[in-house]
Amino acid sequence: MRSEHPVKVIRIPVPTPTLYPHTTTNCYLIGNKEECVLVDAGYDRLETRKEIEAVIENTGLAQPTSIILTHSHRDHAPGVRQFMDWPLTIYCHRSEEEAIMNAISPVKNISFLQNGESFKVADMEMIVIHGPGHTAGQLNLYIPSEQILLAGDNIVAEGTTWIGPPDGDMSDYIYTLKRLNQLKLTKIGPGHGDWVLHPYEQIDFVLNRRLKREKQIKSLLKDHVYLTATQLTEKIYENTIHPSVFHVATKTTEAHLIKLIKEGIVLQQNSVYSLSN
Ligand SMILES: [Zn+2]
Repeated sequence: MRSEHPVKVIRIPVPTPTLYPHTTTNCYLIGNKEECVLVDAGYDRLETRKEIEAVIENTGLAQPTSIILTHSHRDHAPGVRQFMDWPLTIYCHRSEEEAIMNAISPVKNISFLQNGESFKVADMEMIVIHGPGHTAGQLNLYIPSEQILLAGDNIVAEGTTWIGPPDGDMSDYIYTLKRLNQLKLTKIGPGHGDWVLHPYEQIDFVLNRRLKREKQIKSLLKDHVYLTATQLTEKIYENTIHPSVFHVATKTTEAHLIKLIKEGIVLQQNSVYSLSN
């Protein structure tokens, strides 16, 4: 029987010094007055705690007994330290264990969730999706009854997420997007920005952007024969991106190059790339 207290899924944009154009990281509270979990814990500062506590107070949700971390990045995981006085279990994917341990130290009690595993929060079923790409242990949560996907940084509301070495893997990421596209979705709760109300359009947009970029890299290497990742990035963006994200754009170019090397399409010699044959 369904609980008489309706389950809520609440997006809480917590201010973080994250990547342009975003200025907040989304934490999510899922539950009712009897049971609640927190997904992601934002940046390690008091503001995070205050924002989340204010929502709990205003909505009457229970104090969370667990925090599920989508990944280890500094704008998603270290906020756990702000909640050390709550009796909590911290969950993540095993492939993210070391990075999470570093991100939330001295907190140590980590448990693991696996792809396909399901569990209930206040009677609402949640399914764990391991969706590597942005990081190796990226965890997404799917709520079948609401057709909601909490996508971590696999999907952001504005533009595309950055995928770069050493954490990111472009081949994995493209495969993950294709898997997410198979879910029945009414909306996506992204890692940054507002609810995404056109989920398939957004996934297609990101997939197409990545495939277009790959094509562009191949054609630039054809025209210029030898280029570094920085030169490629300069030619791709032609000064159209915010300087603060040029570095991560270069990392994304590198991630594409790594994929193309794996596929035997590109060769690397020192820091210079060329097409094979
Ligand atoms: Zn991230």
